[in-house]
Amino acid sequence: MPHQEPPDDIRAHITTTTERGSFAMARCSCGWAGPARRSRDRARTDAAAHTSTG
Ligand SMILES: [Zn+2]
Repeated sequence: MPHQEPPDDIRAHITTTTERGSFAMARCSCGWAGPARRSRDRARTDAAAHTSTG
């Protein structure tokens, strides 16, 4: 039986935080992006919330 793997580019949520000036925002490989935050910790919290609910 052939091995079948799901296309992980649509299933995986790989989040990164991007900094823009004094703002930070979370982005995800699925296309999601969080709001601009004043702190990177906040952006990371957004990312964590997205991956746990998504
Ligand atoms: Zn995502």
